[in-house]
Amino acid sequence: MHIRFWGTRGSLSKAGPATLRYGGNTSCVEVGMADGTLIVFDCGTGAHDLGQALLASGKHPIDGHLFITHTHWDHIQGFPFFAPLFMPGNTWDIYAPGGLGNRLEETLAGQMEYTYFPLTLQQLGATIHFHDLVEGTFGLNGGRITSRYLNHPALALGYRLDVGGASVVYATDHEPHTRDQSHTVDPHASSSRALEVHHEEQGHIAFLSQADLVIHDAQYTAAEYPQKVGWGHSTVEYAVDVALAAQVKRLALFHHDPLRDDAAVDRLVDLGRQRVITRGGTLEVFAAAEGQVVELPEVGQSPTCPVAHADATAGVEASGTTNADVTILIVDDEPDIVRLLQVTLRPEGFRLLAAHDGETALQMARTERPSLLLMDWQMPGRDGLEVCRALRAETDPQLRDMPVVLLTAQSRDEHVAAGFAAGVTDYLTKPFYPAYVRSRVREWLLRKRVETP
Ligand SMILES: [Zn+2]
Ligand SMILES: [Zn+2]
Repeated sequence: MHIRFWGTRGSLSKAGPATLRYGGNTSCVEVGMADGTLIVFDCGTGAHDLGQALLASGKHPIDGHLFITHTHWDHIQGFPFFAPLFMPGNTWDIYAPGGLGNRLEETLAGQMEYTYFPLTLQQLGATIHFHDLVEGTFGLNGGRITSRYLNHPALALGYRLDVGGASVVYATDHEPHTRDQSHTVDPHASSSRALEVHHEEQGHIAFLSQADLVIHDAQYTAAEYPQKVGWGHSTVEYAVDVALAAQVKRLALFHHDPLRDDAAVDRLVDLGRQRVITRGGTLEVFAAAEGQVVELPEVGQSPTCPVAHADATAGVEASGTTNADVTILIVDDEPDIVRLLQVTLRPEGFRLLAAHDGETALQMARTERPSLLLMDWQMPGRDGLEVCRALRAETDPQLRDMPVVLLTAQSRDEHVAAGFAAGVTDYLTKPFYPAYVRSRVREWLLRKRVETP
């Protein structure tokens, strides 16, 4: 397969003399499989030039598969300017994270409302198939696509393509799950512990495992990160650490900050390469540059994948349940936290219940059987860990497997490890931003629903 970068910038397009080498267009990456299948990751402003290049190629029809990580501006701004979508005879499959009332077609139609754009979604000439995706794996012609939730203040999916023994992962707009990144500032400190203790970090590393190329969010440095916590992006150091842990061959730093000129991106590359050397790794690190092409030979066996793409979202929306059928139990002895979470989640239409101590929480979990438990760790009487352990010891699978998310200000490795040992599903680290809470809650609920349709 060949990979070509059409947009590498994050957040905002940044044209000008200071960004000539790495480019100013926002996220858009073309992947061409050896069998001719065309895949596009994200539709930022880089998609404009990609569309023009496809038109100039003289190929007809121009069919393709567009995978959108999430619908923040910098990932969809090129959508209404992507020429192949306007040509009758072309067929495009468009995929993005969906579920729980989150529908791609509606979001894209919103972007093209009269106030913002002169043409409507219905005026696109090509035949378009929308796919609201959840996490999973499905076949795409000769290849296999794997999608996995990223840690971002909007529901976002990373994508992995495996074909002919070659593999590429596109994982942008992702923040470390371990909020305490202080260890990454020191190039000699071991990073392994933080990545080992958090189940979500382990899942992310497994998603990248042994890939030939990982295109990863690296918007910030570890030194900048304390000022950027909760913004939904990675540091160069973290990107290198997860790539090393996953035994990746090549790492493309991606989603360059609009404040970073070419010389500053060069310094990020130096930082990443130095980190690899310090750790004795062989990982090749470079910064994705607009126009750059990476060739990955397809010489091995393609993975078998019996699931067709149409089945990927089956069971999620088909169940007919609405958000009003979803009960979330919020437990905290601080009334302000309970109120904050209620105000954040009420617009989603969920049925919200509240408790202020562990004993009441356990009783309510047994009687109300919520879909999700958001629970403070430290409470008088039974604390969050004790309630979690009690639930995990139940024989009823609905209680035993209930997603339990701990609310805590503690993010040291030993605390995180203690929670997972007690059976918690994940953490929500205080202080939390409303957008993050909404995105994480959607993710936990959707994961649960896919497991038990
Ligand atoms: Zn972005
Ligand atoms: Zn984003």
